[in-house]
Amino acid sequence: MGIDGDKLLNSARERPDQTEFYMPSPAGYRPGQCKYVVVLGTVMSGLGKGIFSSSLAKCLQDKGLSVAPIKLEGYLNVDSGTLNPYRHGEVFVLDDGTECDMDLGTYERMLDQDLSRLNFCTSGQIYRRVLDRERTGGYLGRDVQMIPHVTGEVMNRLRELAVASQADVVFVEIGGTVGDVENAYYIEAMRQLAFEEGEHSVCFVALTYVLEPNILGEQKSKAAQLGIRQLMECGIQPHIIACRAENPVTKQVREKIALFSNVPMERVFSMHDCESVYLIPDMLRAAGYDRAVIERLKLEERVDAEEERRRREVWSDYTRRLKSVARHVTVGITGKYTAVRDAYASIIKALEHAGVHLGVKVHLSWIDTTEVTDETAAQCLAQVHGMIVPGAFGTRGAEGKIACLKHARSTGLPCLGICYGFQMAVIEFARNVCAMEGANSDEIDPDCRYPVITLLPEQKKIEGLGGTMRLGGHNVVVREGTLAYRMFGPQVRLRFRHRYEVEPRYIAPLEAAGMIFSGRSPHAEIMHLLELSQNVHPYYFATQAHPELTSRPMSPQPMFLGLVYAALKRAYPDYDAPLDYRPATETQREISVAES
Ligand code: GLN
Repeated sequence: MGIDGDKLLNSARERPDQTEFYMPSPAGYRPGQCKYVVVLGTVMSGLGKGIFSSSLAKCLQDKGLSVAPIKLEGYLNVDSGTLNPYRHGEVFVLDDGTECDMDLGTYERMLDQDLSRLNFCTSGQIYRRVLDRERTGGYLGRDVQMIPHVTGEVMNRLRELAVASQADVVFVEIGGTVGDVENAYYIEAMRQLAFEEGEHSVCFVALTYVLEPNILGEQKSKAAQLGIRQLMECGIQPHIIACRAENPVTKQVREKIALFSNVPMERVFSMHDCESVYLIPDMLRAAGYDRAVIERLKLEERVDAEEERRRREVWSDYTRRLKSVARHVTVGITGKYTAVRDAYASIIKALEHAGVHLGVKVHLSWIDTTEVTDETAAQCLAQVHGMIVPGAFGTRGAEGKIACLKHARSTGLPCLGICYGFQMAVIEFARNVCAMEGANSDEIDPDCRYPVITLLPEQKKIEGLGGTMRLGGHNVVVREGTLAYRMFGPQVRLRFRHRYEVEPRYIAPLEAAGMIFSGRSPHAEIMHLLELSQNVHPYYFATQAHPELTSRPMSPQPMFLGLVYAALKRAYPDYDAPLDYRPATETQREISVAES
């Protein structure tokens, strides 16, 4: 039997000093109305919890339910802005400027949905709120405790998302692994959530790992059993178990896990490796995960079968194309974090999206620019059909990037510069075309003679590092008659994360020498897009923004489409299909047909 969440909420609100229950919730919240799927990891991290959870969320979204994801991070940082991509993967930036974990990118891409600060929570945010509330007397003389106050704040965050999004289902992904000190109070908060929301309101999904050591040649379930037992010791009985593994998990192993965890066999699933994350939603559906969630949360009545048929058709079209690529190209990524692929997760995905639309498999070649010079650039780039110079901070590897850009510009190698890559392209052009010897960025050489890249005016006053860059979505005005205009039309919204910009006084000399600034800020003289005329170079494009953050499977980012297309033409000189920079997805096409 569940409890009456409404009653609990009212008594906690009306007599806060006389009850042990503590339920801070936003106005308009009704327990039991929004449902929750809570995904927890056991055994080890790095199993792709975000990919799993976003794929499962997509299965429900495809059934016509509205979903809202939230990631609960254990660390004490307020956001991911100050984290090193070497250790934590790329910093993803949302339209509202939130700097967050790369998993949020996975959710945005999988669900084709823009997220906000409500979808990302860290321990730093939770504690900050609790301490602020304590300082303003918000606890009415009580001693502030982990339970119920800190755990209450966690539930409050979920409920705020539920109210703001009006979602049918909130997907909660708990960062880290069961047993970590950092996330223990999140797990406790989820136990309380299930109690307060009442029966059939919360579905716990444990993602675990089945080992298959080479020396044994068979799958072993012990680590998974122990991990799930540890979860049960926290008072959480999982409803669904997803067994990550290299190969499909055998029935025998699943039986063992079922027996030790009280979860019936039909809810212990295999989730083995597959070629692309975009194939996972279909894999989950085929296994029956979506049905198991719907049954547990009693959501049958909210399912729209017609909508599901339509949406699945669109998705199958995408996965069909994903599986049937006819051509191959190699794109070089010149960056200093090449040792950690996660540092470039969104770039890799954006290339995949563009590749699927053009029917081509994009292979990556990692080029560590700390080693590259003018003399070695040609050799380092000999095997690639296109090149990306990604974002970065600081000095290391910068000269190597400039050498790669010089090579690409002067040999017609298709090239896309992103953020720092855009700035390096300006420096290279200033030095080698405009004869501004030693041109550089203030970030690298504050005393240089031609500081063509300089700190943004508003950045000069800023102290401290967290959340102080020029961040998030900004509109870009595009110049008519340019390649950018063919991509975007008169205006486009892109996401940013930078402190430096093209120094305005150098814009005129750079343009006079042939650099085209094809996109700029509508409010200030900040250059956002640059290109070379296609009369002199097949594809030389760069942006101060991070276009990789807004590429989606159904709507590939035009700058990446342009790059992959140019690489394709370089690899297959007789390839002559025209490029549509803004391919309408099936859904968009259907909408425009319906509207006309
Ligand atoms: N370091 C550069 C700046 O701050 C570029 C930043 C980036 O590539 N994200 O402007």
